[in-house]
Amino acid sequence: MRDITIIGGGPTGLFGLFYAGMRKATAQVIDALPDPGGQLTALYPEKFIFDVGGFPRVLAKDLVRSLLEQATQFGGEYHGGQRVVGLEEKDGHFELVTDTDRFPTRAVVIAGGIGAFAPRRLPQPAAAPWEGNGIRYSVGAPSAYDGKHVVIIGGGDSAFDWADQLNARAASLTLVHRSDRFRAHGATVAAVQAAAAAGRVTIHTFHELADVVAQGASIHELELKDIKAKSTRRVRADVVLPMLGYVSDLGAIADWGLTVANDEIAVNSEMATGRAGIWAAGDITTYPGKLKLIATGFAEACTAVNQAVHWIYPDRKVNPGHSSNLAIFGQKDD
Ligand SMILES: Cc1cc2nc3c(=O)[nH]c(=O)nc-3n(C[C@H](O)[C@H](O)[C@H](O)COP(=O)(O)OP(=O)(O)OC[C@H]3O[C@@H](n4cnc5c(N)ncnc54)[C@H](O)[C@@H]3O)c2cc1C
Repeated sequence: MRDITIIGGGPTGLFGLFYAGMRKATAQVIDALPDPGGQLTALYPEKFIFDVGGFPRVLAKDLVRSLLEQATQFGGEYHGGQRVVGLEEKDGHFELVTDTDRFPTRAVVIAGGIGAFAPRRLPQPAAAPWEGNGIRYSVGAPSAYDGKHVVIIGGGDSAFDWADQLNARAASLTLVHRSDRFRAHGATVAAVQAAAAAGRVTIHTFHELADVVAQGASIHELELKDIKAKSTRRVRADVVLPMLGYVSDLGAIADWGLTVANDEIAVNSEMATGRAGIWAAGDITTYPGKLKLIATGFAEACTAVNQAVHWIYPDRKVNPGHSSNLAIFGQKDD
């Protein structure tokens, strides 16, 4: 049983996890994505952000790393790869239900952003039987690709980042993209193109998956279709990594009796949702004057967590005092 469970490990949820720890509440984050960071990790890890206080400019992935370091200093956990699909109320507490687990909690903070992220799946019917058996939507440990024939499908940051990272390990690395316009960071595109010039990567533009050619129970080759020339070619493949972006969906949260419109939850100035024990913060909230920014999410996380702490432990004030004075950081006794 935790005091506070935060749905969503984007910047808002991660800062909320830190804040709960600072308030001596036990807390955890649940996120559909395997890795923390929400939109920053899924949509723009290589972009610079210029409007987070204290950072004249910071790469999105570096901000996530710092947030995680700050968030986990009090032992709060990040449960990745689990989508919250249900909320039950029993014996004076909640139980959040994911596709694989149950999380008992006294209070809930919904920091679900634009909804649960899931990788966009390959549209070709030939792919479906191989998902989880050769076709992987989550990369996992780079060492798993040592000596393997790897095909990456996509033209964005993730596709190029992994092509850059894995080409030295793989027996062969093929990058397949439907056009010749890449949406990845210029420096990473240049690195992969240099690897291609050196013969370590093969890039097929204007190609898409046509079929999977098996040998026994494993993928052996992919048949690729040249969408301009209408011809096909085969490439060696042990593992296929589709990197086609993400789809997001508010899912079950919309059915919890909260005021939801346009995939946003209406909250008051205390970030209260109207249902006792449930607060919301970050991009998922709406109120007059709302700004969907990382900085706003941080402030809302403070408000939501402080309200939740006071609700669970009425003897603890809503106002946390200043961190610069708190004993939890070894400062003047609070
Ligand atoms: C390209 C781009 C550039 C941007 N640049 C800036 C910028 O320069 N400055 C700025 O301030 N903002 C910027 N933003 C906006 C900023 O990223 C968002 O305001 C911020 O990510 C919101 O954080 P959040 O934690 O509220 O939500 P999110 O980052 O969306 O995180 C929500 C998390 O909740 C998870 N989740 C949702 N529902 C469930 C569920 N049912 N079960 C499990 N997990 C769930 C999702 O998987 C996700 O990981 C940018 C956005 C984009 C797309």
